[in-house]
Amino acid sequence: MSKDLYVIAEQRDGEIAKVTFELLGEATVLAADLNEKVYAVLMGDKIKDKSQELIEAGADGVIVVEDPMLAEYVTEPYAKALTAVIKNYDPNIVLFGATSIGRDLAPRVAARVHTGLTADCTHLDIDMNKYFDFLHATSTADTASIEKRLGMDDKTLKMTRPAFGGNVMATIRCADYRPQMATVRPGVMKKIAPQAGKQGTVEEFKVEFTAADMNVDIKEVVKDTKKAVDITEAKVLVSGGRGIGSPEFYQELKKVADLLGGEISSSRANVDAGWIERDRQVGQTGKTVRPELYMACGISGAIQHIAGMENSECVIAINKNDTAAIFEVSDLGIVGDVKVIIPKLVEALDKY
Ligand code: FAD
Repeated sequence: MSKDLYVIAEQRDGEIAKVTFELLGEATVLAADLNEKVYAVLMGDKIKDKSQELIEAGADGVIVVEDPMLAEYVTEPYAKALTAVIKNYDPNIVLFGATSIGRDLAPRVAARVHTGLTADCTHLDIDMNKYFDFLHATSTADTASIEKRLGMDDKTLKMTRPAFGGNVMATIRCADYRPQMATVRPGVMKKIAPQAGKQGTVEEFKVEFTAADMNVDIKEVVKDTKKAVDITEAKVLVSGGRGIGSPEFYQELKKVADLLGGEISSSRANVDAGWIERDRQVGQTGKTVRPELYMACGISGAIQHIAGMENSECVIAINKNDTAAIFEVSDLGIVGDVKVIIPKLVEALDKY
């Protein structure tokens, strides 16, 4: 019987991706509900020494697949290794980060193990099958076969993701097949504080590769040395929307951000207008952020924007329209002209 939650531990050059820790944090919550365990699947070359880090981040155990073929991420050997792990251990749930690696690997593996995949989830939950079965049974009048197949006490993973351009949030279940698989957006889930010295199992799993498994010839790996801004790491974000009126006004927002030790970010409207770089966009098609303070300046609060910042600890909105949707997700709302309020704020903060 399928059991336990598996988190795919994404790594590059031995550095575990931040999203892996977020997934481990979320998996421990889901596992408690299911009374199951959390395992990290760590694939790479000479990577085993990273296992303890994963255990301290929430894993009960780590399954390590080490091979020179896995030194760099290449779809085919990674898909082969993970498919073999899933077929051998029969997990109940498998979670990936919705990163370029996760988005490449997850669908291929889902097809090979004949299950479904929900991509780009923003929320996960465990739910009883009863409600689903009731709906299913009333539409098919086939209660007996459903009960036989799943058991009325089965619990399923409820996966939520934006659909139809972010206009609705779709709830998806994979009731009939195992494992239940999802990719989850980075920045959405909460990691747990590392538990130093935590004990866990480390099991090595051997996969037999042949030369034919490596269908890519890597000539050179060129690293991007440009120091990219990572707004998902910032504790304070001062975000500008169309209401700031011009790209120059980002300089004013930057003053506030600098005084508060933060970064500037943006709604999509200004990114599309070329006022600011795309890697600072917050929202459904931008980044998901959860800073301690998010200041929304001249941002209306479209659903696609809110999807990316609603988990911020404190939201302050400045908007001249008192009915703007952004106020519904704000802890503090200031109704007024951003071009008047921000310079005053700079002046006040400068005094401290
Ligand atoms: P507007 O909606 O034009 O709002 C400007 C606000 O500024 C208004 O509320 C106005 O009252 C206020 N204002 C004007 N002047 C002032 C002033 N002087 N002082 C104070 N307030 C003032 N958007 C995102 O942000 N992120 C995404 O990831 C994203 N993804 C999308 C994906 C899809 C598939 C689609 C269809 C849309 C997406 N959008 C996204 C776009 C989104 O729907 C909105 O169009 C966008 O967020 C609006 O940006 P805005 O709030 O800056 O501009």
